[in-house]
Amino acid sequence: MDAISVTALAARFPARSFISKAEFDEYIRENRDRVDARYRHELEFASTKPEISWPGTCAPCLRPTTYTSRTKGGERLPDGRVLPNWREELACDCEDRINARGRAMLHFAESVTGLLPAMRVLAFGPSTPVSRRIGQTATLIHRTRMLVAGGAYRLDLPDACVQLALAPDYLNHVPPLDAALAELRRVLARGGQLVFTVPFRVDLANTISRTDDLPHVNGLLPTYYGASIHDIGWDVLSRLRKAGFAGASAYSYWSEELGYLGPFNIIITGTA
Ligand SMILES: [Zn+2]
Repeated sequence: MDAISVTALAARFPARSFISKAEFDEYIRENRDRVDARYRHELEFASTKPEISWPGTCAPCLRPTTYTSRTKGGERLPDGRVLPNWREELACDCEDRINARGRAMLHFAESVTGLLPAMRVLAFGPSTPVSRRIGQTATLIHRTRMLVAGGAYRLDLPDACVQLALAPDYLNHVPPLDAALAELRRVLARGGQLVFTVPFRVDLANTISRTDDLPHVNGLLPTYYGASIHDIGWDVLSRLRKAGFAGASAYSYWSEELGYLGPFNIIITGTA
């Protein structure tokens, strides 16, 4: 593949966005054959080997790549083959070997959000190749967890000071989810975007939370918990709107060429 077509491919993030479960369900009804054919195609990749590989294009690295995916931890099929956990295990062969979830997050930030050098970015979680690369383009402000100050869930940041907040597989670990969303809205400038992934449950209208038995800190739920305590469903979009976001969408993305396999890969955005 030549450089121009690689660029063209990377320019567009291969996704369809939804604003509600009803819209998603309708899309699935109308495209059932396509969704099923895609899954059957993915099943052909299932293997008894520990690792599989095939050629493709890494969008954030903007180059041809060889994808590899370990099958360990994947879904074992009745015939003994294993379907990889694409989201976590499907890596490009570039220096950082970024998995599908990370590459999609980078690609999304670059092509949908539009990263700019002057953009101030708030990133949750530890430093990763994804956050480092974002920091090469934009100005990164790191905060690893929500802070508790003055009896409230509060980030040590002024109002409307960031243009992009990235939370990769983070918010499902934050017990006071609505308080966190409201706080993220507070620090985002108008038009700014919260972009996050969680192990999203496309089948759930309402998020299932397991916060009742958690220990409290200063009378409040902890701001971060090691185990995932929310199975996040479609109500997260209305919860974003309730938290003050002007818009909220779930982007379902898929591309074999770009190494985004798996039936329902979701990136969620809240636009301030
Ligand atoms: Zn790459």
